[in-house]
Amino acid sequence: MGHPKRLGVMGGTFDPIHHGHLVTAEAALWAFGLDEVVFVPTGQPWMKADREVTPPEHRYLMTVIATASNPRFSVSRLEVERRGPTYTVDTLQELRRQAEDEVELFFITGADAMLEIFHWKDPEEVLSLAHFIAATRPGYDIARFEKEAPTSHPKVSALDVPALAISSTDIRRRVQAGQPIRYLVPEGVETYIRKFELYGGGR
Ligand code: NAP
Repeated sequence: MGHPKRLGVMGGTFDPIHHGHLVTAEAALWAFGLDEVVFVPTGQPWMKADREVTPPEHRYLMTVIATASNPRFSVSRLEVERRGPTYTVDTLQELRRQAEDEVELFFITGADAMLEIFHWKDPEEVLSLAHFIAATRPGYDIARFEKEAPTSHPKVSALDVPALAISSTDIRRRVQAGQPIRYLVPEGVETYIRKFELYGGGR
C-alpha cells in the first residue's frame, strides 16, 4: 500500500498570477512533500472593496500559461465554472470526491486571505478537510496571524515566502502606469496582459 497522495490546492484570485505565486507553490511542494499542486483560480468576479475583478476566463488562462512548464502543476476549472460565490469548503469537498485514491489535501493561500476563512466559515469543518498553509510576504505581521489562526493548531502552518514581495496589486498598478512588469510575471503572462489590454494598459 502506497501513501495517500499529497495534493496541494493553491487558491487565489490570480489577477494576475505572478512569480511570487509560483515560488510559493514550489516552496510548499518541497516543504510539505507534496506530489502535485493544483491551482484553483476563484470564480465569478465579484466587487472587491476597491475594484472589479478580471473575468475568470482571463485569470484561468493566465494561470494555465504560467504553470504549463511544470509537470507537477495543474489548473482546475472548478471555481471558474461554479455559479454564485465560491467557498473553499465546497472546493475541497469536490476535490476529495474527484480523487480516485485516498488523498491528503493541503490548501495554500495568502495569510490574509486565510484569516478571512477563519472569520467567514465554520473553521472546524474547513479544517477537517485539509491542512492549511498560509504564505506570508516580507514584513507580514505574523503575530496577528498567530493570534487569530494559531499556527500551533496541528493543521495550520505559516510559510515565509520572500518572493511574495511581488503582488498582483502592484503589477496591475504598474501596467496602468506604463511601468515594466518583465521578470515579475512569466513572459507568456505579460504577453497575454498586453494582447488583451488588461489592467488599463495598452499593447
Ligand atoms: P485576496 O484577498 O485577493 O488576497 C489576500 C492576500 O493573499 C494578498 O496579499 C494576495 O496577494 C495573497 N494571496 C492570494 N492568493 C495567494 C496564493 N495562492 N499564494 C500566495 N499569496 C496569495 O485573496 P483571494 O485571492 O480573494 O482568496 C484567496 C483564496 O482564499 C481563494 O481560494 C479564495 O476562494 C479563498 N477564500 C475563501 C473564503 C471562504 O471560503 N469563505 C474566504 C476568503 C478567501 P496577491 O494579490 O499578490 O495574490
